[in-house]
Amino acid sequence: MAQVWRSCSSCKKDIVVSSKYYECSVSTCNGKRTGLVFCSVPCFERHLPGARHKDAAAIENKAPATPYQADAPKRRIVVSKPASGATPSTPTVKSGSGNQHEVLVVASKLKKYVQDSAGMNTSQAVMNVLSDKLRRLCDEAAENARRDGRKTLMDRDFK
Ligand SMILES: [Zn+2]
Ligand SMILES: [Zn+2]
Repeated sequence: MAQVWRSCSSCKKDIVVSSKYYECSVSTCNGKRTGLVFCSVPCFERHLPGARHKDAAAIENKAPATPYQADAPKRRIVVSKPASGATPSTPTVKSGSGNQHEVLVVASKLKKYVQDSAGMNTSQAVMNVLSDKLRRLCDEAAENARRDGRKTLMDRDFK
């Protein structure tokens, strides 16, 4: 099995020793400290929106025959500040408060609705299922609001 030289800075796929790889023509990207390497041109292109280069080109290179020696603990490359300079979004999604199993629907009203519209009784377990669905819908909507840079969930976030 071929030895791995480094992994692609985009897709994290292994780049094996003595194989082709690509680097960015912009010096801040290909410098010794940052050292972005890409396994393919599409992976190179994927770093462009965050890097905001005026013009950059992929440079084809050949990986050395020996595995890359990381002399320092792996550096975490800080990626893409929001391009517009808008409200920084927090990528960590906290999944709700601790109350993952709290019932969010008014059981009496829901039961009355089902009784009136369908003439059926509603089992208590339905409340849990609906509550889970509501939580999921709200999580998705919150994601939309966050992407919009808002801190208020709005009707249009539910699609
Ligand atoms: Zn890649
Ligand atoms: Zn670059």
